[in-house]
Amino acid sequence: MDKTTRLQYLEAMGIDVWAPRRLSIAVPQAAVHSQSPIENVVSAASVTAHEVEPSEQTASSVIETVDIELPRRSASSPSSHANDQIWRDLQHEVSLCQACSLCQTRTQTVFGVGNKQASWMLIGEAPGQNEDLQGEPFVGKAGQLLTEMLRAIGLKREEAYIANILKCRPPNNRDPQAEEVAACNRFLQQQIELIQPKIILAVGRIAAQSLLTTQQPLAKLRGVQHQLNDIPLIVIHHPAYLLRSLLEKAKAWSDLQFALSVYQKLEK
Ligand code: URA
Repeated sequence: MDKTTRLQYLEAMGIDVWAPRRLSIAVPQAAVHSQSPIENVVSAASVTAHEVEPSEQTASSVIETVDIELPRRSASSPSSHANDQIWRDLQHEVSLCQACSLCQTRTQTVFGVGNKQASWMLIGEAPGQNEDLQGEPFVGKAGQLLTEMLRAIGLKREEAYIANILKCRPPNNRDPQAEEVAACNRFLQQQIELIQPKIILAVGRIAAQSLLTTQQPLAKLRGVQHQLNDIPLIVIHHPAYLLRSLLEKAKAWSDLQFALSVYQKLEK
């Protein structure tokens, strides 16, 4: 039986077909040299409003890439269709949610975005104004910086999956309340279960404290490998904080380096 026919049979029988995929893993030159790419990233993001050409705003010039092979489910296998339906149902359920009072003030829910088979999942706090208007997490200035931070460790934004603890914007960007976090939690847990990421980055103090159900300060939570349902979880600075406090950029780079080193150990 030829390969094409065999694949058609397997697919008709509902058997997953695995195909190799190429993943670009970037090795920041700054990891080789001593300068931090976050330095470039943060300063690029902070001057975004000051008429800099987009091509000058990325850290890509300090990134080298190497290719590695990773297994991936065939996009057309029946089980992936079933999975698509589960995702659609979940997103629909979120869009109708009225479990807390944030449904009264939201423009729309902000479900999550990215690769549903991602190895890296990033979880922020809650949508802000831009996210509430556009329906996508991390699209404002902080989002641009987050995208560049990911580039600094060789990840394209679309290769990761990005979500928030809350799916609705708290009015005036106030901190999420405990009952809102509790009401939204099952949606995030389902997203994590569906994606089964290899590593989770908790973006900022509030995301970290909610995910790890702790009141410990950020300084204690960074630089440590936590586990969430057996998935390694690393806490990183929130990009909005980095935009305000450029002095913290070296710490941000060490958060990312640490996350990358944990991930690389998993791959061995
Ligand atoms: N901050 C967050 O934590 N999440 C967003 O989506 C945007 C800003």
